[in-house]
Amino acid sequence: MISQILFLLVTAAAAGLFAFQLRKVRQNIQLGRPLDRSDQPGERWKTMALVAFGQQKMFKRFTPAFLHAIVYVSFLVINIEVLEIVIDGIFGSHRILGQFSGPLYDVLMVVNEWLALLVIVACVIFMIRRNILKVKRFDGVEMEESKGTITRRNYSHLDANIILVTEIVLMAALFAFNVADIQLHALGAGALQSIDNLPGTFPVSSIFADMQLFGTNPHTLHLIERIGWWGHIVGIFLFLNYLPISKHFHIIMAFPNTYFSKLEPKGELDSPKNIHEEVKAAFDFNYQPVEDPNGPKRFGAKDITDLTWKSLMDAYTCTECGRCTSVCPANTTGKKLSPRKIVMDVRDRMEEASKYKLVPNEEGLLVPSDDSIEGAAEAAQHTLLGEHYITNEELLACTTCNACTEACPVNIDQVTIITEMRRYLIMEESSMPEEWGIMTQNIENNGAPWAMPAADRFNWAMDIDKIESNEKVSE
Ligand code: SF4
Ligand code: SF4
Repeated sequence: MISQILFLLVTAAAAGLFAFQLRKVRQNIQLGRPLDRSDQPGERWKTMALVAFGQQKMFKRFTPAFLHAIVYVSFLVINIEVLEIVIDGIFGSHRILGQFSGPLYDVLMVVNEWLALLVIVACVIFMIRRNILKVKRFDGVEMEESKGTITRRNYSHLDANIILVTEIVLMAALFAFNVADIQLHALGAGALQSIDNLPGTFPVSSIFADMQLFGTNPHTLHLIERIGWWGHIVGIFLFLNYLPISKHFHIIMAFPNTYFSKLEPKGELDSPKNIHEEVKAAFDFNYQPVEDPNGPKRFGAKDITDLTWKSLMDAYTCTECGRCTSVCPANTTGKKLSPRKIVMDVRDRMEEASKYKLVPNEEGLLVPSDDSIEGAAEAAQHTLLGEHYITNEELLACTTCNACTEACPVNIDQVTIITEMRRYLIMEESSMPEEWGIMTQNIENNGAPWAMPAADRFNWAMDIDKIESNEKVSE
């Protein structure tokens, strides 16, 4: 009974803390502007099923995709066992699903054990790739420790290693639980587990049990079995609560993020209503622009409050895998731009706003809600655009080729963030290279990027008859 009460307390604490963290993430995402993504539900479910559930985009690189698939499938299957552990924990039963599901339980345990073993192998390979082989896409300026108030990226590599080690420990705890349980029942000490016959087939644990890995003392075995059981479930609760502050949050966020993907063609740029109004007024002096009090406060994005909630959700979904940066032509030709950094910067700015309790004022600018918080005033001086996060140089390097959005395994739209920020730079600050200024002036004056009036555009063809007749004469 004490064990059940303890289990309920631990479960309630884990669930409460997780709900609290989710609420914080939700509040941060709600800092973004509204965006309607309720259209085409059928297409959205399909996208989510293919990209998040089916891991469709992962299989462009087979080795990491295969290893990732093992961990992912294992994550799904192990949830069934977690359900059993939770029921056992609450009701004081032992392997409750095995009491009712017979051969199905055998299948579940066989699949579970092989997957658990493969997860350990996959995690070891992942650690070798990251820490010894040092795969290039895991590195980059955004993966290095940074100073100042920016937080999450300071432990980017550590984060990956923490998760990999945790997964290995979780699987080891599961095996310890199974091995000790098998040994106990083999010794006829099943009464310690409150059941006489152990249900299930354990192909991996049986090998270690036959070797009497944990000795033959029933009380020691019972202790190890309990340590394995508690270690596994408490480890999962800790893992769950670590997720919202880790890049591994994508195992949850990938599902809503792919559901709300951009369904329009990738290269199609958003054309906001406030710009339409401005253009109409520019062409017709009698036109009175319609002002939307809830509309954007400026053209483009200067800070996270100018981006839509979907761009902010994107940032919480990023796995920091670096696939986008590895295919970015700007990055591979030595430019400062890295689409992964852009996404990580958005997330870090959200975390900064949350840490210092910054809230948007009427102008949509983030200001401190509590002046007594040390560092809040300084954090409010930062914006997403600027030296602390994303610089002009990075934004101007983008070719809008969309190679990054195509490569992203969780359908993050880096280009919308970049084009929105560039729109702010150009439309609000007129900050652009001189050549771009000439080009936009030409478009405005001549209806084309060239420095000539529209009437002169076909001048090049004026002498075409003469050229043709000369060619005929020479023939
Ligand atoms: S769209 Fe921009 S950021 Fe993305 S890959 Fe192309 S150049 Fe890089
Ligand atoms: S934006 Fe996508 S591709 Fe780029 S690092 Fe994040 S998850 Fe990977």
